[in-house]
Amino acid sequence: PLRLEDVAVTFPGLSAPVLSIPVLEIAPGERVAVTGPSGSGKSTFVNIITGLEKLKTGHASWGETDLAALPEGRRDRWRGENIGLVMQDFHLFPGLSAFDNVLLPARLAHAADRSRLERAKALLETVGIARHDQKIETMSRGEMQRVAVARALLREPAILVADEPTASLDSEAGAVVGELLLELATSLGSTLIVVSHDERLVAPMDRRISLLAGAIASDERKD
Ligand code: ATP
Ligand code: MG
Repeated sequence: PLRLEDVAVTFPGLSAPVLSIPVLEIAPGERVAVTGPSGSGKSTFVNIITGLEKLKTGHASWGETDLAALPEGRRDRWRGENIGLVMQDFHLFPGLSAFDNVLLPARLAHAADRSRLERAKALLETVGIARHDQKIETMSRGEMQRVAVARALLREPAILVADEPTASLDSEAGAVVGELLLELATSLGSTLIVVSHDERLVAPMDRRISLLAGAIASDERKD
């Protein structure tokens, strides 16, 4: 499970913390939407729970892994092995093909064995990318985000995190990406945490957490 305790993220010159969470737990396999207005702390929340940002006040852990206690290099390795990340602006590498983009993080981590090559191909099929050798910069935004989804799932992460994955896409492409995230996370049994304003992404999730000015304003489970 994810467990946050006494989390406070502050920046110099700001009077109030941009994120303040006394306690929060997310169970393995839970599918959670995080919503809230611009500036409410959603991306800060993503950065903390993925270890992209080091927590200075409070505790953040996934099971036995205490993120604040891990030095940066080990935190990066833990993220690569445990978290699939999908960002609003794709974070793909121009000049490389769709296939090489899917494999790049695993290759950099020396984790691109033969089965991963096969899995990369299968995932590209699953997300509907037929031309595996097409250069990223020649793809549509919807195609790019589908490549990013395939990349995020390559190492079968226990946790899939997406920060406004459909915000740069038109409505139709966004719907496809939303469905893929939910479907693929569910079939792996992964915990899914999606930051989004898109009601089509938010509605099918098990739980909705709303942030307001850095605090949890509501936390609702379905049923
Ligand atoms: P959006 O919907 O626009 O993406 P958000 O909910 O993701 O917004 P955050 O990016 O988490 O919001 O930012 C929360 C607040 O923290 C904002 O007011 C932002 O200006 C502030 N903030 C974030 N990073 C820093 C930083 N490095 N220094 C100072 N303030 C910061
Ligand atoms: Mg944000």
